[in-house]
Amino acid sequence: MCGVIGVIHPQSGETRGAAAAFDAFRGLLALQHRGQDAAGILSYDGATRMFVCEKDLGLVTNVFDQQKIDKLTGGMAIGHTRYATMGGDGRRDIQPMMTGVPFGLGMVHNGNILNYAELAQKLSTDYSRQLLTANDLEVMIHYFADFLMDGRTFAADDTFSFKNIQAATEKMFSVLTGGYAVLALIAGQGMVAFRDPKGIRPLVIGMRETDDGRKAWCLASESIAVNYLGYAYQRDVAPGEVIFIDMDGNLHSAQVRQEKEKAPCMFEWVYFSGAESTIDHQPVYGARLRLGERLADKTRAAITAGEITPDVVMPVPDTSRPAAIAAAEALGLPYREGLIKNRYVARSFILSGQDKREWAVELKLSPVPGEIEGKNILLIDDSIVRGTTSKRIISLLRKYGAKEITLAITCPPHRHACFYGIDFPDPADLVAHGKTVEQIAETLDVNKVIYLDEEDLRQAIGLTQLCMACITGKYPTATQDAEEFSQARKRLRAAG
Ligand code: SF4
Repeated sequence: MCGVIGVIHPQSGETRGAAAAFDAFRGLLALQHRGQDAAGILSYDGATRMFVCEKDLGLVTNVFDQQKIDKLTGGMAIGHTRYATMGGDGRRDIQPMMTGVPFGLGMVHNGNILNYAELAQKLSTDYSRQLLTANDLEVMIHYFADFLMDGRTFAADDTFSFKNIQAATEKMFSVLTGGYAVLALIAGQGMVAFRDPKGIRPLVIGMRETDDGRKAWCLASESIAVNYLGYAYQRDVAPGEVIFIDMDGNLHSAQVRQEKEKAPCMFEWVYFSGAESTIDHQPVYGARLRLGERLADKTRAAITAGEITPDVVMPVPDTSRPAAIAAAEALGLPYREGLIKNRYVARSFILSGQDKREWAVELKLSPVPGEIEGKNILLIDDSIVRGTTSKRIISLLRKYGAKEITLAITCPPHRHACFYGIDFPDPADLVAHGKTVEQIAETLDVNKVIYLDEEDLRQAIGLTQLCMACITGKYPTATQDAEEFSQARKRLRAAG
């Protein structure tokens, strides 16, 4: 998973300082929770006809300072905050990426292309291209540039029409298998955005009027970034839609592909997105409250059956806090914070590598002894993926004297891999893979584990069409390339 942002201020070829890049920088700060491996911004300056790019490993604030932002001149910019789920973890694979041939094209994306290996091979054997990275974005740039060139002459008056862009996007949808939300800058032309036909990865649009009555636009992974920058949230980019905003701020859109079944990722509501965001018209915070209420119903049944006797409800901070508050209210139990989060340590789930994740968890959560000792704790968490965080937390709670621990999870067990931009491509890494709920409880050393079921999850989010492949094993796209994808990611991660 990653965060993407694109900003375009209306212009007529003249430079506008680094205002667009500054918006992109601030937007990336609001999207930092979506990826902490690396960050980058690419701007296009209509006056100099140049792309300018700054990117590096680390958090947004580590990568950028005022001096770097000032260099990113021009009226349009795209930015990316990286959580490596494709390619390696090093500098070579950081986004944005660009090409100057056959014209200037820069791109960022959030997601994964499952048939990357096949497409990369084709580029190399059929078109004699030399790929410089192991990142699927580079392959996407090659294909999109080629598709945009179809039928063009390069005569002086041969500018791109929206029809060119629509046709190129249709071809992208035909060749790419996976989940992706893409933002691209075309030199001298404008900004393009499209979202995969199933809508697996999110993308929203915001707009604000400029002082001279024209329109400035911001597209981002989450509404939190758009709102923070002062753009009014307009809507989500529809699955299978392409949008083009020209250099004067005129927006063109077309529904290029219309799939019957949509599949936005359920994990955005459960864990990944900021609680302040709204995705596909469903506010994340409201969904998390409802997840807590439904979990309370399941827990009440276990209490009534005499299986557990909780006397306090405790969240694993921060994502599960709204669910824990709602569950405590519904059960009439006190809500207590027995674990305090160190805000300066990265989210453990999105660090790559088990060793990094383990030390992050140890630093991340500090116990409040008085709220733990002698208590029967109903511990609410959003999910158990690898089980790293859960095991560490439970051993902390045991160490500080918890009597009974019930672990209640706001989604069903993760038993299958994700190939669409969340980094668990191998089901063998998942703590629930091949285990019953009782075996999971035993592995994690808790008295009981309570999971929501699929229908609870759908109802709480408020959408009937969702990607739940990591729960159900039913994938919304073809998966014949899944094994190769999974092995490639493992090899690259091992190589660092
Ligand atoms: S497999 Fe799971 S995590 Fe991956 S996109 Fe689907 S719902 Fe989201």
